[in-house]
Amino acid sequence: MAKKRKRKRLRLKPAVFRFLIYFTFFLAIGIYTINETKKIIADFKYQETYEYKITQKGYKLKEAQKLIEILPDEKLDYILENEYNEIYYNIVTQKYYLDKNFDKYIEYKEYHEDTSYEDTIAIVNVHANVGWYNETYETNINDGYLMIVNKFYHLDESYERDDLENINLAYAYANNRASSVVIENFKNMRQDIEEEMNVHLMVNSSYRPYKDQEEIYNEFKKVSLKYADSYAARPGYSEHQTGLAIDITSLEHPTANDFKESEEYAWLKENCHKYGFILRYPEGKEHITGYSTESWHFRYVGEEVATKIYNEGITFDEYYAYYIEK
Ligand SMILES: [Zn+2]
Repeated sequence: MAKKRKRKRLRLKPAVFRFLIYFTFFLAIGIYTINETKKIIADFKYQETYEYKITQKGYKLKEAQKLIEILPDEKLDYILENEYNEIYYNIVTQKYYLDKNFDKYIEYKEYHEDTSYEDTIAIVNVHANVGWYNETYETNINDGYLMIVNKFYHLDESYERDDLENINLAYAYANNRASSVVIENFKNMRQDIEEEMNVHLMVNSSYRPYKDQEEIYNEFKKVSLKYADSYAARPGYSEHQTGLAIDITSLEHPTANDFKESEEYAWLKENCHKYGFILRYPEGKEHITGYSTESWHFRYVGEEVATKIYNEGITFDEYYAYYIEK
């Protein structure tokens, strides 16, 4: 019996061995086939992705990934329908890019090759791509201290703030009125600069009703329309009608030219945001604001927004377009 069992076991061993060989062989082939199939399926699936398709258009992988991160599908399809164009990537990665303006940015940049991407975004965002006064919108007075008035947004003839107050003759020339909040903050700012530098800020001009602006504009228009539009805002389009804008110089430097070179102007540029004011028409931003630099014109928007505008180095028009109008 013992012998028989031994022989039987010996006979089984090669069979088991063969079985293991075959099993391992087919298992390996099986695994290999499954993996290869998986790879083929994965490749096939990857070829269906925007990432693959966009890189096939000539964009770098990182560029494709960024485009996918920012753009909705219909814009990605548009990119795929068109030849490789570096404009697309450079436009959509700008800080103030707004999806609704995609087509306008592309068109503007294609016609204005020398305009930087940053400026292209700013110009289109504030509507300046269509030309001053060529599109008009009504100012949303519900925006409160953030209401915008520029060469596209205008106020109704009847609009007047209900918190207008006379400005004390100690720090304003005659017949000046502004929002009580503006006066309060101007007083604080005036006091601080006086303590620091012994200079005395003065309000030259402030609230201006529609009728007054109309008279000013019509006077200029007697020369020509172009002349009038260069030197005065059209009635309804002057920020002075908001009651939130004030023209400032100082007793020490009463003319605009002198004031521009003064230390108090330099101080205001660096500090007025702490009191809620911004320099409304800064140097080098004429193509965005529509106004040559005005070293005297300050606008109240509140401390938080004024600080943001100061920190980001943008104009109020850009701020409004990106953060409010969207
Ligand atoms: Zn002004």
